[in-house]
Amino acid sequence: MQKLRDFCEHALSDPESFWRTQASLIHWSKPFKKAINAENPPFASYFEDGHTNLCYNAVDRHLEDRANQAALIYVSGETGIDKTFSFADLHREVTRCAALLRAKGVMQGERVLLYLPMIPEAVFVMLACVRIGAVHSVVFGGFASQALADRIDDLRPSIIVAADAGLRGGKVVNYKKLLDSALTLVSHQVATVLLVNRGLLDDLPLEPDRDQDYHAALETIDEHEVPVVWLESSAPSYVLYTSGTTGAPKGVQRDTGGYSVALAASMRHIYDGRPGETMFSTSDIGWVVGHSYIVYGPLLAGMATILYEGTPLYPDAGIWWRTISKHKPTVLFSSPTGMRLFKTEDPTHISENDRSSLRHVFLAGEPLDEATAKWASEALGVEVKDHFWQTETGWSILCPLPGVEEHPLKWGSPSFAAYGYDVRIIDEATGHSVSPGDKGMLAIRWPLPPGAMTTIWGDDERFEQTYFRTYSHNGGDEVFYLTFDFAICDDEGYHYLLGRSDDVINVAGHRLGTREIEATLCELVEVAEAAVVGVTHEVKGQQPIAFLVTRTKDFAADFAIEHVRQTLGAIASPGMVYVVSALPKTRSGKILRRVLRSIAEGEDPGDLPTIEDGSIVERLQEELRAS
Ligand code: AMP
Repeated sequence: MQKLRDFCEHALSDPESFWRTQASLIHWSKPFKKAINAENPPFASYFEDGHTNLCYNAVDRHLEDRANQAALIYVSGETGIDKTFSFADLHREVTRCAALLRAKGVMQGERVLLYLPMIPEAVFVMLACVRIGAVHSVVFGGFASQALADRIDDLRPSIIVAADAGLRGGKVVNYKKLLDSALTLVSHQVATVLLVNRGLLDDLPLEPDRDQDYHAALETIDEHEVPVVWLESSAPSYVLYTSGTTGAPKGVQRDTGGYSVALAASMRHIYDGRPGETMFSTSDIGWVVGHSYIVYGPLLAGMATILYEGTPLYPDAGIWWRTISKHKPTVLFSSPTGMRLFKTEDPTHISENDRSSLRHVFLAGEPLDEATAKWASEALGVEVKDHFWQTETGWSILCPLPGVEEHPLKWGSPSFAAYGYDVRIIDEATGHSVSPGDKGMLAIRWPLPPGAMTTIWGDDERFEQTYFRTYSHNGGDEVFYLTFDFAICDDEGYHYLLGRSDDVINVAGHRLGTREIEATLCELVEVAEAAVVGVTHEVKGQQPIAFLVTRTKDFAADFAIEHVRQTLGAIASPGMVYVVSALPKTRSGKILRRVLRSIAEGEDPGDLPTIEDGSIVERLQEELRAS
């Protein structure tokens, strides 16, 4: 493992020369002066004074060598469409869209919100935005009106691009209705909504002046040559909302140059993908994996990317595997939940489809248990690689680096810190590293490498206060970024994740803040108090369970579940709602969610020195048995 150690060691000991080398993987219209500026903690900037453009690097740059090579392969399990766009096709579609955005008055630095399913137009709009320096923000199609409205008010976009509807497992999800209802809840007024009409709704009411058909609007555009706008490396490329410990979603903001370099480097060193090959990431463009490894990463590397619409099991459990057999990706990126789903399906769906193109299978988003890792490795015929990262970092923190050097994997471990991350397992109170094998908070010594979030949209202070802690050691200050994940590191340097330290849960690889769900439940007049916890789920990893104290006795739990579904979306809706007489609290009035989790999982909550009323545990256990 010497090569790998040297590589990572170089990144930490001389980041200036390391990242300068990586920066040559992309095109700069104006060279940068310094690779890294770490003079203003916790804000770091990369490649200052350099000018580049994400769209140019992802699309235009490849026209010379691979104009006719596949760039975007759109496969829909829902409609049966299987359509390939070459780099030349992609360039044409993106410039048309950029021209349209320009014609609608979208200027550099303005925001464009996308509420779109997994259709090619979503990729075109994202690339068109970064082409002209507009900042995109994709809101996951599974989010319903209130969640969408909160994001609109925070982002203040000048334009929204949406679709009539999405499809999931053969069912139509009416995006337009959800959007219309969100737009009645917002205080920020959006002047223009461009609608991609897929013809999925019988009735598509258009708001005069505001709503315009995307494709019809494209037809009215004459000028289709839109040159890229060269941007300062630190110019924001996008904002992506993620859940935190408060109800208010956080807009993770990313730069342009640092992100481009980080992704280009990761495609080579982590995913070991090569130009001309294909990558299949099974995520959604509404999540960070979709941004980094459906859209930008593979395209920056000159690879084709598969954009898959639908669920893994529709029209049947063979759809992903037929897609792999047909389009021959060399890299598959999925989640543990994605794999667990197939455990109970007919194994021939996998075995009868050719998977020999797969060089690497990476899984992320949630803990990968040993049983699933072993099962998937055997079923796929490729040893699956766990890797760990967060929306905030944009790319992997802990991972194998097969593009540098292969090393033996250990079950249950995403291996070592990636180059550029000075990962420590610390005692959160003191900032000191714990001993090998001891549990602590997984922290990253500042500065974070390029590609990581640069701030929270519109709120530098929240960024600083949420993520960073300064510890004084031996007369000097050390600044750490906290991941809010507990972990241990063994004496060979392999890391093991032990779950979150905050109120964020992980449902099928999707991150949800329990506080947001609680706030939604409390909107119901019948609900006096609500507590939501994540409990273990066989397929999804975790699922939210709600405990409600209600004002009326005959409160229907289904009503609460439906309310969350309507407000936040299906992924957030609780798997179970328990109506209870009281919630366990500390003497200072904090809800003891850990106790509720133990009770819901049928475990003994153990010692409870801070609980106000110890008898409540037994009462709750009885109430759960009776419900
Ligand atoms: P997100 O920002 O939605 O990608 O969620 C990030 C969180 O997902 C992390 O903080 C972890 O709690 C969890 N996570 C992501 N990848 C892994 C992994 N490979 N193993 C364990 N937990 C993971």
